[in-house]
Amino acid sequence: MADHDGYDIVILGGGSGGYACALRAAELGKRVALVEKGKVGGTCLHRGCIPTKALLHAAELADHARDGAAFGVKTTLDGIDMAGVNAYKDKVVTRLWRGLVGLIGSRHIDVIDGAQLPGARFPSGPGPSLTQIEECLAAVCATADVRAACIACAWLPDRVSDQTTRETITRLARALGTDLAWPEPAGR
Ligand SMILES: Cc1cc2nc3c(=O)[nH]c(=O)nc-3n(C[C@H](O)[C@H](O)[C@H](O)COP(=O)(O)OP(=O)(O)OC[C@H]3O[C@@H](n4cnc5c(N)ncnc54)[C@H](O)[C@@H]3O)c2cc1C
Repeated sequence: MADHDGYDIVILGGGSGGYACALRAAELGKRVALVEKGKVGGTCLHRGCIPTKALLHAAELADHARDGAAFGVKTTLDGIDMAGVNAYKDKVVTRLWRGLVGLIGSRHIDVIDGAQLPGARFPSGPGPSLTQIEECLAAVCATADVRAACIACAWLPDRVSDQTTRETITRLARALGTDLAWPEPAGR
């Protein structure tokens, strides 16, 4: 456990990049918050790699059934039940998502609803406070989204200490219509 109030590391975005970072940081004994506005797993698990591979698997089965004769196997393809294919795909995604949620929980990583950040609207009562997040020692932006990265930098600007990174982010933010003001890097 850290000797300060904030998290050791706050990760914005719970996709493949964000949750891998969170799991590794927790493995190293860090106190970790993972801020996600949707479901952990991100693009790969919910809209990308996993659902597409499930659909491809079903398509492959259909191909094999149609082409069984080429292998000396008597099969016929009667048709494709798209609702059934989608149900199979959703089942695969849900099983993996539940596994990931369980894994993240078992490593004591706090998952925070990103829809609540940035801003002072973070709920009071049990659970992590906004202060714990703002006073983190390090922040990682894994949102796969330049606009969200700029928001994250505006939210925790003193965590971005590297001048080249600041200049790049300033240019990106300006292109998106936001002027960022950089305070002195936090002395941590
Ligand atoms: C159809 C498709 C198929 C793909 N197939 C493959 C494949 O076979 N193999 C492969 O290697 N890659 C594949 N990819 C690419 C892969 O999905 C991405 O490279 C990977 O998901 C990127 O991970 P990430 O963590 O950077 O971003 P993401 O997975 O996009 O995660 C970003 C997360 O940040 C969250 N977020 C964004 N803004 C905020 C905010 N302001 N506050 C809080 N949370 C926020 C989002 O909700 C999201 O969960 C595929 C992609 C697509 C679209």
